[in-house]
Amino acid sequence: MGVEKNIEILAKSSSSDTPYTVRCYFEENKISFFCSCPAGDNRKLCKHVRQIIAGDDSILYDINQKKELEEINNSLQKTQIPLLLLEISKSEYLLEETKRNIKKAKKKLENVILNKLKQ
Ligand SMILES: [Zn+2]
Repeated sequence: MGVEKNIEILAKSSSSDTPYTVRCYFEENKISFFCSCPAGDNRKLCKHVRQIIAGDDSILYDINQKKELEEINNSLQKTQIPLLLLEISKSEYLLEETKRNIKKAKKKLENVILNKLKQ
């Protein structure tokens, strides 16, 4: 099965005025991305692709590409990508909660050890 269509998005670069090109290839229930930035060249998931799959339009170099971004995000719904993103955000939430619990426990320990509590 060949590529059914592809969309090119120009993504803002944080280090230069020249945008990167993110190519998005659609096949049946699959979407793949290739970004022209250094990380993308190394086949890493770069921030440009991450922002595009998150539907974050602040990454757009050309604000007129909102429609393309929307089209990508509609097509994403047929893939496992939203589920994987959810898995990440759930884990990030748990991580933040765990960090807060560690901080609280350290505070309690400090209070006990330094005898800061009013007895
Ligand atoms: Zn990139």
